[in-house]
Amino acid sequence: KRRFDKPQAPAPAPAPSHRLVTSLTNPLIKDIRALGMRKVREEAGLFVAEGLKLVADAIDGGWPIRILVHRSGEQRPMLSEAIAATRRAGGEVLEVTGEILEKLSRRDNPQTVIGVFRQRLEPLSRLTIQGEALWIGLDRVRDPGNLGTIIRTADAVGAEGVILIGDTTDPFGIEAVRATMGSIFNVRLAAGSAAEFLDWRKRFSGRVVGTHLAGATDYRKVDYRGPRLLLMGNEQQGLPDELVRACDDLVKIPMRGRADSLNLAVATGVMLFEMARDRLDLPD
Ligand code: SAM
Repeated sequence: KRRFDKPQAPAPAPAPSHRLVTSLTNPLIKDIRALGMRKVREEAGLFVAEGLKLVADAIDGGWPIRILVHRSGEQRPMLSEAIAATRRAGGEVLEVTGEILEKLSRRDNPQTVIGVFRQRLEPLSRLTIQGEALWIGLDRVRDPGNLGTIIRTADAVGAEGVILIGDTTDPFGIEAVRATMGSIFNVRLAAGSAAEFLDWRKRFSGRVVGTHLAGATDYRKVDYRGPRLLLMGNEQQGLPDELVRACDDLVKIPMRGRADSLNLAVATGVMLFEMARDRLDLPD
């Protein structure tokens, strides 16, 4: 059993601890390193976010820190706040050497702070959407950079959340989390199979806007007011017919030049800013 694999409820909060770790063979350090593997992340229900900015975003979003790792001797006001927040949440604080941080983040230029958090992924079968919310559905998204970028863009336009449909890359993988730049803590995530999505779609009162290279409608000619789900296709194959049939509108972003399609994250960004056009204003 992994050391951080504690029962979720109703166990009392563990006594807060703060310790200095200097050895790579420390069991907790080994366990955090093992979170680099999807299987381990899923079993433990945990993930790693690197950097003080992401940790601060998590605190702002009300995400309790399970384990906070920071470089020994590091002193910054934001770090002191993160340490205090970890203690309040009953988490552990580990002070480590630069060498250990390097191994934990597997980067040439490692961050000086790493946070471990519990994953939040809502089952599609229980997802309810209220109000004028804007959601994004991603069909079998493969690339972690695309997924993280889409989560970040969803956050930027004030979308409520992202639904992962079918077999997708892990939103809690380190590459995806990095690409979100902290937005993973501000956007809801739900997941389910294509069949579960089609079932959920029957309960969704808003319109589903699909994007397709064979779409007959210009994406700028559609009314996006009201609850909307933007449905995007897989990077290689696009949307399959069964998902196309679930769309109320099937739109295309017109292109010139020789490119036959846009990158998934770019196409999602173009769509989201058009859909949120009336919801976004620069402050006076
Ligand atoms: N070979 C795939 C196909 O034929 O659909 C290309 C997929 S494209 C790289 C990934 C997704 O981005 C598409 O499924 C669609 O959702 C969206 N997309 C990319 N370019 C688009 C465009 N010009 N108009 C509408 N959607 C686009």
